[in-house]
This record gives sequence, structure tokens and C-alpha cells, in this order.
Amino acid sequence: MKSFDEYLRDAEEAHGHLCAGQVLGVRLALLGLKRLGIDDPRGKDRKRLVTFVEIDRCATDAVAVVTGCRLGKRALKFRDWGKMAATFVDLETGKAVRIAAKDSSKALASQMHPEAVNKNSQQMLAYREMPDDDLFTTQWVKVELPPEEFPGYKGARIVCDLCGEGINFHREIHREGKILCRGCAGESYFNPLE
Ligand SMILES: [Zn+2]
Ligand SMILES: [Zn+2]
Repeated sequence: MKSFDEYLRDAEEAHGHLCAGQVLGVRLALLGLKRLGIDDPRGKDRKRLVTFVEIDRCATDAVAVVTGCRLGKRALKFRDWGKMAATFVDLETGKAVRIAAKDSSKALASQMHPEAVNKNSQQMLAYREMPDDDLFTTQWVKVELPPEEFPGYKGARIVCDLCGEGINFHREIHREGKILCRGCAGESYFNPLE
């Protein structure tokens, strides 16, 4: 396990700049790992962890850096809830803990560092020092993770009856005897122009 400052440096490098979100994300991930008793997420424990993030902001990058969980390894799951929170699932023990940043921490940060030039600097300073309990809420939860959600799972690939594109295991939709991809089933996020 690296030190807080080492992780922060790694996060800065991966994210492209140092910001309050990086400090918050590193703290959030470290707390989750501490609660689960995972001390080497990018080394010996690297297959043990799945992380759900609930926001696509700066802190998300820092969470990925500390945990080593990546979208491309199916170990990082994005749930677009717009909340500064993440749930850490220990695949070995089945334990899971959700850590959420308290909105009140922003007001506390401006009280702690009124001298700082802007909110980002206030929060960068304060989020380093603030006790865990002022910064976060912690909740033990149960996460049902079906086999196809596990990082190493390999399953059959099938083909959409409508567009002919391949689909990975259990992401398909069965309707009126047809196999459809999510796009063809009406969940598309784009409109074709041609
Ligand atoms: Zn940032
Ligand atoms: Zn299709």
C-alpha cells in the first residue's frame, strides 16, 4: 500500500491535474479499502475488488487509481446517480461497503480555510485534514453480483437478429422469439444519420 501523498501524485498524473476531487477521491477509496481490510489492491489483492462509482467527475479517476479497478477489466462499474459515492465489493469475503462524501464537508472546508483564494483551494487543503467522519458516511451493504459481472468471466457471444452486431454474454434482450441488442431493443443513446 502506498502513502496518501504517493496515491495523490499518481492520481494527479492519471487525471491531468491536481484538484479537490482528486484529494476527495483518494481519501474515499482509501477509507473503503481500510474498512474492507484490503491493503494491496494493485498487488496481491488485485483480483479481489470490484468498485461501483456513482459519479463521472474528477474523484472517479482517483478512485480508479487507488483501487486499480478499471472499466476495461470489468472491475469498475459506473452507475450514473450523480452522487459523490462509491461502493467497494470484496469478492473474497462477499463484504461490501458504500462510502459517500457529505455535502456538509464543503461548508466545513470554507470554515477551516477562509484564507484560501477559492473553493477548490479551500477544499484541497481541508479534505487532506478533515477527519473521516466529517468527510464521509459509511454504510455496509450487500451487492448481488451475477457471474457475468465478475472481472474474469467469459461467456458466449451472440449476434443481434436485427443489426447483426455481436453482443457479450447476457447483455442481449429476448423479445418475440428474437435476440436483440440494447440499441435495437429501443435503448439506443444515438439516432442514426444514415
Ligand atoms: Zn479534476
Ligand atoms: Zn442490434
